[in-house]
Amino acid sequence: MPPTKKRPACSFCGKEDRMVTRLIAGPGVNICGECVATCRDILEQDKAPAPPPATKEAAGTPPAPQPAAPRVLKVPNPVAIKDFLDQYVVGHAQAKKSLAVAVHNHYKRLTQTCNQPEFADVEIEKSNILLIGPTGCGKTLFARSLARLLDVPFAIADATTLTEAGYVGEDVENILLYLLQAANMDAKRAETGIIYIDEIDKIARKTENVSITRDVSGEGVQQALLKILDGTIARVPPQGGRKHPQQEYIQLNTANILFICGGAFVGLDAFVRQRQGKRTIGYVDPQAKAPLVLAGAGLAVEPEDLIRYGLIPEFVGRLPVVSALSELSEDDLVRIMVEPKNCMVKQYQKLLAMENVKLSFTDGALREMARLALQRKTGARGLRAILEHLMLEIMYEAPSEKSLRDIRITKEVVTAQLEAPGSVTPLLKAV
Ligand code: ADP
Repeated sequence: MPPTKKRPACSFCGKEDRMVTRLIAGPGVNICGECVATCRDILEQDKAPAPPPATKEAAGTPPAPQPAAPRVLKVPNPVAIKDFLDQYVVGHAQAKKSLAVAVHNHYKRLTQTCNQPEFADVEIEKSNILLIGPTGCGKTLFARSLARLLDVPFAIADATTLTEAGYVGEDVENILLYLLQAANMDAKRAETGIIYIDEIDKIARKTENVSITRDVSGEGVQQALLKILDGTIARVPPQGGRKHPQQEYIQLNTANILFICGGAFVGLDAFVRQRQGKRTIGYVDPQAKAPLVLAGAGLAVEPEDLIRYGLIPEFVGRLPVVSALSELSEDDLVRIMVEPKNCMVKQYQKLLAMENVKLSFTDGALREMARLALQRKTGARGLRAILEHLMLEIMYEAPSEKSLRDIRITKEVVTAQLEAPGSVTPLLKAV
């Protein structure tokens, strides 16, 4: 008898095509209509706010829904903000101060009123922040740490994915959707949140001259961002994606959302130096991605430099606090590995302590890793990659290798492991 041909079936529930109303085929898999519906329900449940925690009294009778207690936003003073940042971010002392003041003022503006009549007409403007600094120097970490300190919702967006309405790409309102999601779709809470927009330098206008043709990727996006940066009642599509006439929207007032924009602005220092009348070696075209690194903290960036770089004046005006971060030095990178509260080395030490294994690094080992990370030019990001690579074998072997109870990583171990990863036990025994 010839073998019967197998009928296509749902890869999730196993039902054959004749048993279901619809079977959708993908590359190597099928899914039936029922399983699609189940998946949709699961995703909907994920989106729904978490149920209130069960209490003793709740046993038997379900508790009446309680309105969420409004959170009181506590605004730490600038010194306390800087102290907090010091625990997580290495270096950048000047930037920490200017961020601490900006963030303190921003939230004071939301939470406190001034009853003195002579100031009745004075409106305190919002202090959105622009962080300029090379990749991996801690710009996102700054924004994330501030949100953590203030206990406000936090979202990260990438400027390069944005387009002005009507073009292919993300509408700028989607940025607000990320924040809403971080606030569990609670609009009131989202309205006090922080949004970090990365790669803001990538939406710089391509030429200094105003172009007659529309510049979709650059100027158009800056224009589209102006309103939400400034403060507007935005209509956010709860499902994300492009705006749609039939869609329902969530209204979100952006007046009190703190926007922190970040970018490397490669070549900006040449504009600064030119303006300051100092000698520059040749002319640096910002679009040429010249391997120029910002001159570091203290780089006195003026609005006109940013405009020359390609930000439109109105956009620059919406970012009144500008802070230039320097490239991390070898010393900074060493400190990043061992000093911050949840630094990488402490995390590994904690993991191994759970196995009763002691882990230590010699100064030479830390310096070697920092030196290698500097070569990669990806700031502390490269450091993470190096350390993870090094620790992989150790984390693999330590839990089962009884002779590894006191692991001391030297420069030689680092070099050997990074050059030719392999069993770490003989290396450590040799030390
Ligand atoms: P950027 O946004 O400037 O590209 P990130 O803030 O994303 O860089 O940094 C990447 C990671 O490197 C961070 O999550 C953090 O672990 C580490 N890092 C970077 N800079 C610092 C710093 N100054 N202090 C402590 N850790 C840092």
